[in-house]
Amino acid sequence: MFDVIIIGKGPAGITASIYIQRAGLNSLVIGKDLGALAKTDKIENYYGFKEPISGKELLETGIKQAENLGSKIISEEVISIGYEENFIVKTTKRIYNSTSLILATGSNRNSSNIKGIKEFEGKGISYCAVCDAFFYRGKDVAVLGSGDYAISEAMELAPIAKSVTILTNGKKAPEYRSENIKINENPVKEFIGNEKIDKIEFENNDKINIDGVFIAEGVASSTDLAKKIGAETKNNNIIVNENQETNIKGMYACGDCTQGIKQITKAVYEGTKAGLEAVKFVRSQTK
Ligand SMILES: Cc1cc2nc3c(=O)[nH]c(=O)nc-3n(C[C@H](O)[C@H](O)[C@H](O)COP(=O)(O)OP(=O)(O)OC[C@H]3O[C@@H](n4cnc5c(N)ncnc54)[C@H](O)[C@@H]3O)c2cc1C
Repeated sequence: MFDVIIIGKGPAGITASIYIQRAGLNSLVIGKDLGALAKTDKIENYYGFKEPISGKELLETGIKQAENLGSKIISEEVISIGYEENFIVKTTKRIYNSTSLILATGSNRNSSNIKGIKEFEGKGISYCAVCDAFFYRGKDVAVLGSGDYAISEAMELAPIAKSVTILTNGKKAPEYRSENIKINENPVKEFIGNEKIDKIEFENNDKINIDGVFIAEGVASSTDLAKKIGAETKNNNIIVNENQETNIKGMYACGDCTQGIKQITKAVYEGTKAGLEAVKFVRSQTK
């Protein structure tokens, strides 16, 4: 059991963990990779560096700094979050628990723009199996994606739906095999329907009937995770108040996953605020 779990090891998450460790609490940081900044080799607009610094170097220095203060930082992919007396964070490897939770998962990855996804959102296209599986009891559903996150969404649906098909959209099929989960590797052309989605058309012109499609490409994004626990989102951002607090008590969000400019300075400021607020929350629970 940790005082605070932070999902994301970019500037926002690492800064939050620095403040939490310095306050004498314990934090676990879970990040799949180094995030957005690792893609740039020249940062010239962040305070304190005479010469440009690479994103990777800045991130690795921050991680070392946090580790020196006692932060536990692990590389795992989070597939789900929930709450039952305390926060529950499920990764592809195991389950972790904490009193408070901070989402610092960066901005949403680009998802494919297959025709029909936007049109049928809420009309058969869903982004959260745990939230919407109930509506597909005894129906035929598909999951778009080819990674661990897609598998976990398919497994969530399998006991409820009549059939579950993972659509890899031309990507290599996941290793995982289960009798009640089919895999279709054909590239998808379009999701078709009238009031609601009712068919998938593939590039080879094959069509299959479908009642619902769950989008689970790449890793679970900030808004995917937020939806699983009932946190409010708007335009792919997690909604927070001036204390970085979400509508879920004890849960905070910071950095690129909230509204506003997407820059390191903002991620560091919000990480500071989220860390300090999480400390206050944990102390209020243990008095
Ligand atoms: C090419 C490029 C150049 C940039 N240049 C600059 C610049 O010069 N100056 C500047 O100020 N800003 C720059 N930015 C913006 C900057 O990178 C971001 O504002 C900053 O990194 C946001 O920090 P963050 O911690 O919120 O998110 P990120 O740094 O994106 O970190 C997100 C973290 O969440 C993790 N994560 C996400 N989902 C999951 C999951 N399901 N399970 C586990 N972990 C997960 C990721 O692995 C990562 O560790 C640039 C961005 C890009 C893409």
